[in-house]
Amino acid sequence: MTPPTGTPASMQAAIVKNFGTDLAVENTDVPSPSGHQALVKLISSGVCHTDLHAAEGDWPLKPSPPFIPGHEGVGVVEAIGDQVSNLAVGDLVGNAWLWSACRHCEHCRTGWETLCESQENGGYTVDGSFGEYMLVDARYAPVIPEGADPFEVAPVLCAGVTVYKGLKRTEVQPGQWVVISGIGGLGHLAVQYAVAMGMRVVAVDIADDKLALAREHGAEITVNANVADPAVEIQEQIAGAHGVLVTAVHPAAFGQAINMTRRGGTIVFNGLPPGEFPAPIFDIVLKGLTIRGSIVGTRQDMIEALEFYAAGKIHPTFHRRGLEEINDVFEEMRHGKIEGRVVIEY
Ligand code: NAD
Ligand code: ZN
Repeated sequence: MTPPTGTPASMQAAIVKNFGTDLAVENTDVPSPSGHQALVKLISSGVCHTDLHAAEGDWPLKPSPPFIPGHEGVGVVEAIGDQVSNLAVGDLVGNAWLWSACRHCEHCRTGWETLCESQENGGYTVDGSFGEYMLVDARYAPVIPEGADPFEVAPVLCAGVTVYKGLKRTEVQPGQWVVISGIGGLGHLAVQYAVAMGMRVVAVDIADDKLALAREHGAEITVNANVADPAVEIQEQIAGAHGVLVTAVHPAAFGQAINMTRRGGTIVFNGLPPGEFPAPIFDIVLKGLTIRGSIVGTRQDMIEALEFYAAGKIHPTFHRRGLEEINDVFEEMRHGKIEGRVVIEY
């Protein structure tokens, strides 16, 4: 495909060539938009732990190398396909994990497009935002609110919408307690969304610096799971939480959530480490618990999550890095060394 006039023929991108090896940062072709697609020149892209799972190939459903990861990209529309009616050249848009969906299946028809079995995923089944240009499906690309800082807003596009939807699914009401387990890219935003939604927050992580960040963002109680048993602490201090949102990247945190909960509580899993967790039948039945998974959010959830940002209620903690540093960033992520989110600057 040839890129539009005025657009360079090649771009720098970080490419997964083989699972579990360093990404290659090199030149590749700039894609051309057709049909419902738009070509976006990137300004920034958040780095999600899902990008690391993708590069490691550690999930059951694997992407096919070579591919370009990244699904928190923000940039300017440079060209549009002949079917695009809702975006124009110059608009500020993003990509998302929910890159597109079929629009016709039962899930799409009933407000659950996130469950569409024919969905495409940004940076996974289609090339993503770890490059100077990307394609988006104009029908699904989030429009960035006016006045947004393109670096600060990037983490909202996956981490933000995911935890916002996950918190809604906990059914925790204003004034009730929610535990956020895992205070990384997702979790530090979950603390902020929970506070903005009127919830009272307990934060759990295995690193004191993450817990300090959670307190800065409004957590009232923090527990280091490497130092104390978080379930015991939470039962002692608040007699169990009404809901738990697990964003951690270790399977141990998933089983622990069951005993953090008070009777009738709801546990929502956002984190996606490969593995399993023990689920004690007796506790789940006697306590009347609900345990559910939650995957990103719909286009409407995205609009709402961005509105919280635009209203000044959400301030992602982020650090800018260059694309050529992506392999170092992944190494820091493996060791839990990233505060908030890393955002790539183009
Ligand atoms: P991250 O690396 O930024 O943060 C992970 C956090 O988990 C770190 O703060 C780490 O210290 C903490 N942690 C590790 N072990 C823990 C334990 N035993 N107890 C408590 N905390 C622990 O990762 P992220 O970008 O926030 O992503 C988190 C997970 O969510 C990943 O598995 C990612 O793939 C997944 N994810 C899911 C969705 C979804 O829609 N469900 C969307 C985005 C990301
Ligand atoms: Zn993500």
